[in-house]
Amino acid sequence: MTATTPGLVCSHHHLYSALARGMPAPPKTPTCFREILEQVWWRLDAALDAEMIRWSAMLGALEALEHGTTAIIDHHASPNAIEGSLDLIAEACAEVGIRVACAYEVTDRNGPDGARRGLAENERFLRSGGRGWVGAHACFTLSDETLDAVVGLADDLGAGVHIHVAEGPEDIDSGRRLDGRTRDSWLLAHGVHLDRHLDGTILHNPESNMNNAVGYARPVRFTNPVALGTDGIGGDMLTSFRAAYLRMREDDVTASPETAWAWLETGWELFPEARDDEVTWSYDPMDPWHLAFTPGVRPLRVVVDGTVVLDDRGPTRVDAAEIRAKAAEQARRLHARL
Ligand SMILES: [Zn+2]
Repeated sequence: MTATTPGLVCSHHHLYSALARGMPAPPKTPTCFREILEQVWWRLDAALDAEMIRWSAMLGALEALEHGTTAIIDHHASPNAIEGSLDLIAEACAEVGIRVACAYEVTDRNGPDGARRGLAENERFLRSGGRGWVGAHACFTLSDETLDAVVGLADDLGAGVHIHVAEGPEDIDSGRRLDGRTRDSWLLAHGVHLDRHLDGTILHNPESNMNNAVGYARPVRFTNPVALGTDGIGGDMLTSFRAAYLRMREDDVTASPETAWAWLETGWELFPEARDDEVTWSYDPMDPWHLAFTPGVRPLRVVVDGTVVLDDRGPTRVDAAEIRAKAAEQARRLHARL
């Protein structure tokens, strides 16, 4: 028995993290969210070059497609390879046959020149017709001047801003700093410790939040739309849906999987074209009360923009084994630098 749905949307991803798996352990075990950023992610993103960005995006796009995810909203950082990085990601996703909306993470953690170049990459990409949002890391690594520049650029371009908000206690001040500045078009990732209403869509990342021990966002408390992301832990949105349901249920035994399913469906508001994509699944029915308790459901066929991009033999446009081999080679280079 099979059933068909539109393509799934991953509303918050970091494709550059696809090569992080198996990386050498940091010199000291991180004991809080700030240390996880400093000792894992900020060392990793600083070591990325163009080849690594390309093959991490190819691998991440392949893995998304293999799970029926046809649209990714990505948030990218590579402070030593900024210029052109969003093109590498967009091209990789197009090659695999899925959709992507990009953002470059503007931050002051690499000095004023790093912030300036991050802004320029967003502007270059969006002005040249690229799909995306203006990216910003999080208020706790942004000065007021840089935050002003991000908001100004987004307004100039008529774009939204994709930013991490109150993910950990380190960023608890972000509600105050963003108050009155956000718009409905903004993407607010995490919101775990958000202490007030900001305009925008909350991007809930249950697996990542548990992994970083930042606490439970409790998305039902928001009046905003809520969408689901992986925060870089792959592109399997049925697994993210299940994690969102289980985390919600742990907090409230009366919670329904229909709520978590509605968060998954919000992805189509952010990426409407994915509604026209078609995924034929190994299971019927594709119903939240079934899928919450049915691991291992997989796509048999995926059609994006009228083209079959995955069938019973795998992806039709690219060689999955070659992508995995090339990505593994780049992962070895990356890990050697750390
Ligand atoms: Zn993130």
